[in-house]
Amino acid sequence: MSAESASGKKDTARMKKPGLRVTKWLAEIPVEATCTACASVVFRAKGVSHRPNREEYQRSIQVQFDLHCKTAHLQND
Ligand SMILES: [Zn+2]
Repeated sequence: MSAESASGKKDTARMKKPGLRVTKWLAEIPVEATCTACASVVFRAKGVSHRPNREEYQRSIQVQFDLHCKTAHLQND
């Protein structure tokens, strides 16, 4: 009697949704961030103005993250 059910379904490939995670703050301004799916990736905020601007820095990091997602994580919706 060998009635073992061998379902060849792979259940391991659970795709994690990559997210943006700020790792360094300058007061309330995000200056450095990483991708939750790629620990080695670092995004550094760049500003045009001399003084760090919260909105500008946040935007800079977001743009880099979006670009990273397009190249590293092909999003299919
Ligand atoms: Zn990533």
